[in-house]
Amino acid sequence: MESILVLTHADESGSALTKPSLEAVTAGLELAARLAAPLTIGIVAVDAQTASKALPSTARILAVSGEPYAQPRYATDAAACAALWRAANPTIVLAPASSRFTRVLPSVAHRLGGLIDTHISSLQVEAISGTDAIEVTRWFYRQRVEAVLTRTARPWFLLLDPGTNAAFASTGASAPIEEIQFDPPTTKTTVTGFRAPEQGQQTIRPDAKLLFVAGAGWTKKQPDGQTHVPEAADLILGFLTATGASLGSSKSLVDQGGEGNSVLPFLTHLNQIGQTGATPRHAKGLSTCCHGEEPHVVGWRFIADRRAISLDPNCGWTRGKADVVYVADAFPVIAKLNALLQAQKP
Ligand SMILES: Cc1cc2nc3c(=O)[nH]c(=O)nc-3n(C[C@H](O)[C@H](O)[C@H](O)COP(=O)(O)OP(=O)(O)OC[C@H]3O[C@@H](n4cnc5c(N)ncnc54)[C@H](O)[C@@H]3O)c2cc1C
Repeated sequence: MESILVLTHADESGSALTKPSLEAVTAGLELAARLAAPLTIGIVAVDAQTASKALPSTARILAVSGEPYAQPRYATDAAACAALWRAANPTIVLAPASSRFTRVLPSVAHRLGGLIDTHISSLQVEAISGTDAIEVTRWFYRQRVEAVLTRTARPWFLLLDPGTNAAFASTGASAPIEEIQFDPPTTKTTVTGFRAPEQGQQTIRPDAKLLFVAGAGWTKKQPDGQTHVPEAADLILGFLTATGASLGSSKSLVDQGGEGNSVLPFLTHLNQIGQTGATPRHAKGLSTCCHGEEPHVVGWRFIADRRAISLDPNCGWTRGKADVVYVADAFPVIAKLNALLQAQKP
């Protein structure tokens, strides 16, 4: 019989579980119900007691807590996950594919004699030869090929892509936590702080409903024969501030920075959407000044409603890649949109 462990971790506060962790809890509850299997949830946090309040009362809750788990650190996180596994002894382990767990879980699976699959987007239970088998789905080749996998080897670790399940919403009652006592490994790594590339402001917002994509057209010569990059920057940032949208970019636009050309200062390669960029999940997407070529659009795989503004009536978007295309100059369109959004503000 299968038994399930969901591994979760706290955010920077040390006492609240991350959204991807709560999404893994939803997946664990659904899988446990379908298999009629026992469910344990493991917490790695400074203050697991507070973090556990977000969890369901129907699961057994184990925790590794204290200061050593305040920071993501390979040695302490790997030891904590292995300790939680030993205490629960499950056949299936679900965990969020956060940078914290993606870094440690492959080796934890190896240490425990298990196997791991990553980038899981859904879980199903199918009857195969009279027994319930767990089937997991993931995408390969930049989201072009979807595969369904099953394994008989146990323990089987599964890293779940964020955004593929609803976050578990607590009803207020959670089970008491069982603290796992063990000595954290000695570590030579001390985290002294964070350094991130200068971006002026955070523009990548995975939880946003809308993805706003800027293409290279924003930096090209416009009908008056001039470029208008500072104006483009103001329009884009104005739109992002008013809507809370996440900012994506075409490769051509972010590549310009590397060539020393005039470029929008808040864009880095982390904003790039596409075959060699990211494949984010948002309910809607608005592409501006972008041609809509296949290597870019493949990154829109998980954007449900796609719209584009381009001057080119023959661009890739108009050839069936967007739901709605506005053949128009994005400068006045976004300026008008920003004015309407501003007017709507209370
Ligand atoms: C192996 C490989 C991998 C790649 N991976 C990626 C990837 O991951 N992501 C990616 O994005 N690309 C990728 N590319 C590049 C991709 O093929 C395109 O070259 C790129 O997406 C084009 O970017 P763009 O549309 O912003 O620029 P352009 O092709 O220069 O298009 C600019 C568009 O802006 C429009 N425009 C100009 N001014 C205005 C205005 N005022 N209003 C409205 N529209 C205007 C123009 O009409 C034009 O359509 C890859 C290519 C290869 C070969």
